[in-house]
Amino acid sequence: MPPTTGMNDQAFAELCWLIEQADARLTPDAIWLSGKPHHFQHLRNLGALSLSNELADSITCDYCCDETYRPVANPDPLQTEFPYRGYCPECGWRPLKPEQARYWQANPQQIARWLSSALQLPPRYSVEPVVDGVLWRLGEIEYRRKRHTIFFGCKLEQSAEILNKKIGDLAAPGSEIITTTSNTSGLRSSALAARQLVPLRAIAHLRKAGLVVENLDAYLSGLNHVESSDETSLRLMHTMRIALINGEQIKLSPQVYDFLKLLEDADGDEVHKSYIANAMNIPPAFRRADIFKRHKEVFETFAQADNKGNYWLHPDFIIIDRR
Ligand SMILES: [Zn+2]
Repeated sequence: MPPTTGMNDQAFAELCWLIEQADARLTPDAIWLSGKPHHFQHLRNLGALSLSNELADSITCDYCCDETYRPVANPDPLQTEFPYRGYCPECGWRPLKPEQARYWQANPQQIARWLSSALQLPPRYSVEPVVDGVLWRLGEIEYRRKRHTIFFGCKLEQSAEILNKKIGDLAAPGSEIITTTSNTSGLRSSALAARQLVPLRAIAHLRKAGLVVENLDAYLSGLNHVESSDETSLRLMHTMRIALINGEQIKLSPQVYDFLKLLEDADGDEVHKSYIANAMNIPPAFRRADIFKRHKEVFETFAQADNKGNYWLHPDFIIIDRR
């Protein structure tokens, strides 16, 4: 199945999520029983996922889908397509392909490479990690006579202090741009709080052959100038945590941002308050007014609700194709 925009977006979301996990691997069952194995296949074709050398402890039988077994090496050297097998108590020996037997792991290095080429950074910079598996220095770009050092990082929160020091060694103060799969709102209370953090998903999209970057210029220009004076939009929501209402820039609180992001992620579908409460780690009986305390207008402009506890993004502000 050829990758569609929607599939790319979902696959990219899966990838960004996986990269942030302590163990950035999925069992073969997690792939095949996910209901969207083609997303993971697509990521594997692109090199963002690869097969680990390690065999899964246990997998579900692909024939009866009932029993589980441990994959082992296939002793038959002629079975090159099926180098592994597993013994199902119901079905007997089942031949297994590598992708059925081994873990699938995320390759954050691939994101670093993609970003480097999408940003057309001079090829003299090789994409080498500054801290293995966590931080890459991608190179420097000049924008409006100011030099910026671009980084890609993941799992930033765990080692924020060390990373902050490394970044300080490599970039002039205020010139760093750190694109990341980490939750940037979670980093606001870390040693990286003062750094310029750009959520990867706010500036990059997965396309047929890799990442494309689109909004970084807007970010670099400080995003301070707003094109039209009466603009109402959420276009600066991810990069600057700002909502525009009739040209007025309204700074979003972390909670309001998280709330709107949940609605945005749902692409206009209804989101129930129990889901929101769970995702934001707040009591399920929360009152909307508690979150939108000083942002009543933001809620009324960008969100809608029914009396059954469902919320959704106002249809005018849904970005159908986030190209
Ligand atoms: Zn079986």
